[in-house]
Amino acid sequence: MNTFELCFTLASRPMSLSASSTMSKACFSLVKDTVAIAFATPKGRLRAPLKNILYPLNPRGLRYGARTSAYKRALTVEPPWMCVSMKKVFVDEMTREEFRKMMETAKVAVIPIGSTEQHGPHLPVKTDIACATYVVRNAAEALYPQVMVAPPVTIGVSPHHMCYPGTITLRHETFIDILVDVCRSLKHHGFQKVAIVNGHGGNEAPGYLAARRARDGLGLRMVFISYWSLIPREVSDAMLDTKIIPGHACEFETSLGYVLFPELIAKEIPHRLKPPFHLPGYVGDMNEQTADGYAGDPSIATREKGEKLIQAAVDGLKSLLTDFITKV
Ligand SMILES: [Zn+2]
Repeated sequence: MNTFELCFTLASRPMSLSASSTMSKACFSLVKDTVAIAFATPKGRLRAPLKNILYPLNPRGLRYGARTSAYKRALTVEPPWMCVSMKKVFVDEMTREEFRKMMETAKVAVIPIGSTEQHGPHLPVKTDIACATYVVRNAAEALYPQVMVAPPVTIGVSPHHMCYPGTITLRHETFIDILVDVCRSLKHHGFQKVAIVNGHGGNEAPGYLAARRARDGLGLRMVFISYWSLIPREVSDAMLDTKIIPGHACEFETSLGYVLFPELIAKEIPHRLKPPFHLPGYVGDMNEQTADGYAGDPSIATREKGEKLIQAAVDGLKSLLTDFITKV
């Protein structure tokens, strides 16, 4: 019997599926409702044009990618590849009855927040929210059924990126109001603890303020944290040649992109460019502070770095939420 594993990316979330040539049909039908699945020849080779990773891009289409090394690694690889799960943690994927049932066990609600903003010439504008949502989803599934995930807030506060195309921003007060209203709704349905997990630097000040207001005004117990700060410094120092975290569309975020949405990254990856000037504390726009809307050096990003970094963030959030549930 030939055992092999298919890896694919669905909605920014790498997933994998173990199968053997004799049991492949049964395994594939498990997820048939969700994605289109290809299959293997009896010799254990993936049938052309499926050479390695599948990218289901939409319900109608499926694009095939090829990455032989990932296929070889798939037999032994650790998370985040090994993360097929039927656990439902997102509020917006539940029926109201499923929500009611999960409220019997849920201890914390988590709100992933990010941005819709330019990420240099090579990364998609959803980079920040994709990273935050990935970390939250995986931590919530690991702690299932104690953690429920609110709909991700995909637009953040990005006035400093408006000088480049593709950026959509909220005003600070709008953003704060949205977060406080989401917290109010969660409280209404019975939550006492809410964690906001952030993926965008520009959200840090207003996001913290929203959390503070939710605590003071609604009586909720709150956590506000940016996902990159959950990665131990020794891990990021060991992984990143530039040592820059989070930066912007740089070695760090581009490495994560290779794991989470490789199909969305541009072919040309830019090199490090010298910023026009450096002035600590300057409140400026990205076209003043960077040469082309990104910081650091995206050209030295790798998928391997991304896998270790994102897993460290998931582990960090798991342990933070566990403490939030048990100690507060
Ligand atoms: Zn970013």
